Amino acid sequence: MTFEFIDSHCHLDFSPFSENEAYYLQKAQKKGVSKFIVPSVNQFNWTNVASLSQRHESIYYALGIHPLFISNDHQSEVASLTQFVIERRDKCVAIGECGLDFWDPECNKEAQIYVFQKQCFLAKQYELPLIIHSRKSHDVVLKILREMKLSKGGVIHGFSGSLQQAEQFMSLGFLIGVGGIISYERAKKTKDVISQIPLSKILLETDAPDMPLSGFQGEINSPDRVLNIFECLCLLRNESKKTIANAVYRNANDLFGI
Ligand SMILES: [Zn+2]
Repeated sequence: MTFEFIDSHCHLDFSPFSENEAYYLQKAQKKGVSKFIVPSVNQFNWTNVASLSQRHESIYYALGIHPLFISNDHQSEVASLTQFVIERRDKCVAIGECGLDFWDPECNKEAQIYVFQKQCFLAKQYELPLIIHSRKSHDVVLKILREMKLSKGGVIHGFSGSLQQAEQFMSLGFLIGVGGIISYERAKKTKDVISQIPLSKILLETDAPDMPLSGFQGEINSPDRVLNIFECLCLLRNESKKTIANAVYRNANDLFGI
């Protein structure tokens, strides 16, 4: 049985995809991956992701500033982002990827929080969902989202955290982005969480070209691997494959309005 899938998070404007878009799109489409959400990371790729979406019917994009790619002049970068969002075309389906990353203890938390909050405001003002990157920062992200009271919610991309944290995100209207991490034997905690959350809250994503799956380490991750992630998800769940495939497809369609 073949199903239709959406890769809700892949960087198709990055190398090696950018040199050979058609090949990678076709490879994924052959496996049933029919739509792709391409988030941006800062001002240097906003135009690229937008033009990718103009070239390919199956590609949608998001505009944002990733916490690890904030420029020194972050205030003017936020102003440019606002301008881009105002002028966006209809295939811009979210703000992101944005969020917080406190992995490096030396990071500039204040700048990250400022830039993230501004993007939450944009999402609220223009009624777009958020694609959130959060590492070692779930509690601060939750606090900011609670204060923001967003209308559209969004997705916590590449989620790994506790069930309690997942529940808090879900109660704020967020979905849980499930990626290659669930292919790893050692990811017991995350797999356990993903097995317990409602199917209506799950999105599939590769984060290609990053986040290779177990068994493919050292290789470039690509959007066709959504199918492998789906197979791993099925092993964690009691529902039928068909029910799972239909649900995750619908979830992405509904969240991004595509
Ligand atoms: Zn990403």
